[in-house]
Amino acid sequence: MSSADTAPAADAKARRLAALGGRPAVPRDLRNLPWPVVTDDDRKAVLDTLDGESLVSNADGETPVSRLERAWADRCATRWCVGTSNGTTALQLALAALGVGPGDEVIVPGLSFIASALAPVHQMAVPVFADVDPVTFTLDPAAVRAAIGPRTAAILPVHLHGHPADMDALGELADRHGLAVLEDAAQAHGARYRGRPVGGLGRAGVFSLQVTKNLPTCGEGGLLVTDDEEVARAARMGRQFGEVMEPGRDRDYVSYRLGWNHKLSSVQAAFTLSQLDRFDRYEADRTRNVEAFLARLAELPGLTVPTVAEGSTHAWHILRFRLDPRAAGLPEEVTPGAFRAAVHRLLRAEGVPVSRYQLMPLSEQKVFQDRVGFGSGHPWAALDGPPAENGDLPVTRAVVEDSLTLQKRHLNPDAGEALQRYADGIEKLWANLDVVARMAGAS
Ligand SMILES: *Cc1c(COP(=O)(O)O)cnc(C)c1O
Repeated sequence: MSSADTAPAADAKARRLAALGGRPAVPRDLRNLPWPVVTDDDRKAVLDTLDGESLVSNADGETPVSRLERAWADRCATRWCVGTSNGTTALQLALAALGVGPGDEVIVPGLSFIASALAPVHQMAVPVFADVDPVTFTLDPAAVRAAIGPRTAAILPVHLHGHPADMDALGELADRHGLAVLEDAAQAHGARYRGRPVGGLGRAGVFSLQVTKNLPTCGEGGLLVTDDEEVARAARMGRQFGEVMEPGRDRDYVSYRLGWNHKLSSVQAAFTLSQLDRFDRYEADRTRNVEAFLARLAELPGLTVPTVAEGSTHAWHILRFRLDPRAAGLPEEVTPGAFRAAVHRLLRAEGVPVSRYQLMPLSEQKVFQDRVGFGSGHPWAALDGPPAENGDLPVTRAVVEDSLTLQKRHLNPDAGEALQRYADGIEKLWANLDVVARMAGAS
């Protein structure tokens, strides 16, 4: 056969959905891109640490940990940064430093990673869940206002997926009610709110260095930033058994207050410091790739792509797409959940690596339903009276039901080509919405 004969057949195969025997839109090698990107600089940084004299993270003098703390505080425009063993321990240390403890409630978004809600419990405080905004997926200030009660001690906004929470409105509420604001910026390294880096907007802010985050280490790590000298001091003592460690003074092994062992290791810090050298370039590449990807999808009916609120920048840690069967022109009987499930299956067949992120509001996690906690029902049993109501979190519930996410693949600075192929797959699906509708149960 001549190429003139095969071209139309090849075209048809490319247009047909992979689930119906067509050619998948995304070649295999573009379905999974490495993250973190590990270079010889990173390897050298780790090996240099092994050969250096600062393996003990409380070693005297300058260490990779203290260098990373200095560099990250500068980036966040805060006076202090305290390295920790992971983001969850950073949250717990921050709550401890802010004086949050038994009998207190902390307002947490219904949509987040579980750690945002476990950290208050580790500090013997009770998380109270408030609903999120349907567009930014961050705490809805009106829902927070309704959740504030006599036992509320702090608000814990999460800059979910890399989009800053509405910090002006939340800060105003906190001021009016005398509450602390602790930012969970674990997914939002480098994001800005009204020109200011997240993390430095509340009393304290917390970042995770876990491998899948935008600023990774080669394992686990966390960073706590604050302008409050007492919070920084308390966090440093808290991560080090309650001791006071001072440069040039021998360790005295005296614990002045309750402490844990939540230190960041030198090797992890050295790896992150090396990554930090490339952070701006990676972020710029990622932003360019993501914007080109989202621009192609913005006009598809029934698909809501993530957007950025006026005055904010987005760290693009996770991309969340909402699906609306009515706007897509699907028949009445197709529910948002059925539409999402059909799109999920068909896109995966195309090689587009979408997944769900969070299968339920945090309030419905078994750990918060059963309330066993510290064996005897604490911290809930420590409250005087029943805990505040969580409300029914309708937005969180809808978002969990009707959305799909893209995680990790787009973080790689060279993901531009892959994202364009993902867009091919999504456009192909939208050219076959009749198939989607049938799969989603349309008659
Ligand atoms: C990852 C994450 C954390 C916890 O960080 P770890 O370093 O994994 O302990 C907390 N909050 C959010 C929103 C996260 O995504």
